[in-house]
Amino acid sequence: MSIRPLVILPDPLLRQVSKPLERVDDGVRRLADDMLETMYDAPGIGLAAIQIGEPVRLLVIDLAKDDAPKNPQVFINPEILDSSDDRSVYEEGCLSIPDYYADVERPAGVRVRYLDRLGQEQEIAADGLLATCLQHEIDHLNGVLFIDHISRLKRDIVVRKFRKIAKDKAPARVA
Ligand code: ZN
Repeated sequence: MSIRPLVILPDPLLRQVSKPLERVDDGVRRLADDMLETMYDAPGIGLAAIQIGEPVRLLVIDLAKDDAPKNPQVFINPEILDSSDDRSVYEEGCLSIPDYYADVERPAGVRVRYLDRLGQEQEIAADGLLATCLQHEIDHLNGVLFIDHISRLKRDIVVRKFRKIAKDKAPARVA
């Protein structure tokens, strides 16, 4: 397993739509393990493959509290089957948009179909933080970021800030 570099806003990769995985093999499981290690190191509670530059429909989540045993969950080709009418608000953050947090309103519950790390089809009815986290990560697979769910004004401010950071970090060009 290895920790992989994170893709950070405004990298255009974050806007790419990821492709379904055709089979679940050792390569996919290795990628999932790298994602988990990268997520734990960050630390974060969810990560989509595109956030380490792999445009495939794979995401990992672990909502275990700090003092609890790890509970890694792997979702391959996840699909939202149903969303509840009632909505909830969580303060969200994203490893690709470091140190920025904002309240996001989403359906409070979702039913998701996916393949597990053995390639077996599973269905989960999620609510609470897991429902929000699944929706946030599935958005990534479609090139959507949580800042797309906040006001345009707030989004423009954060995008401008990250553009400037990226520009300041870029190596100076020698003529
Ligand atoms: Zn994210």
